[in-house]
Amino acid sequence: MQFVMATNNLKKRDEMERILKELGIEVLTAKQAGADLGDVEETGTTFEENAYIKAKAALDLTGKASIADDSGLMVDALNGEPGVYSARYGGPGATDEERVQKLLKNIENVPEEKRTARFVSAICCLFPNGKELMVRGECPGKIAYAPAGEGGFGYDPVFVVEGGKTFAELTAKEKDAVSHRGAALRKLKAALRETLEGAKEC
Ligand code: IMP
Repeated sequence: MQFVMATNNLKKRDEMERILKELGIEVLTAKQAGADLGDVEETGTTFEENAYIKAKAALDLTGKASIADDSGLMVDALNGEPGVYSARYGGPGATDEERVQKLLKNIENVPEEKRTARFVSAICCLFPNGKELMVRGECPGKIAYAPAGEGGFGYDPVFVVEGGKTFAELTAKEKDAVSHRGAALRKLKAALRETLEGAKEC
């Protein structure tokens, strides 16, 4: 079975296919499915809404089962910001490093015990027969005072998880085991297995 992922990012596609190929699912980017998805406007105010908007755009364009994710960092001392605006924090054209610096500046006077935060990942899967799946994974942590570690991307160098290391100091495997995306993908796999087995029995 083929799924279209509402992204033109091959790394995201690869990550999704690594998890789903055990279920016999091949994941294509919109472009690989012959569709020009362009930049879907993320107008939602929740991760779930944005994941749905992107998956729906891919389903409408291709008519195939579609999948999309939306993720971000919610910082308690900033009332949940940057949240769904994590990728756009710092304005258009800002780099990951600039976004991290903006975040550190905005909470520079916040004491350690109040620097709590969580990463969230929502994944939405839509089928041509109208069936919908939505899963959410979360990872609690704290925001460091300064970046540490070379791995990962985005806010990884300032997100400290249980054990005291930042996401950027973990190997990819260690990060997958505790991350919001890892948790969401494991839930997705279980939900899809059930859905696909149910379909076979019909
Ligand atoms: P989107 O899900 O592609 O819309 O982007 C979410 C944004 O949240 C990314 O650009 C990153 O800034 C941030 N983000 C999401 N997941 C992670 C992660 O695992 N590590 C670091 N930053 C992340």
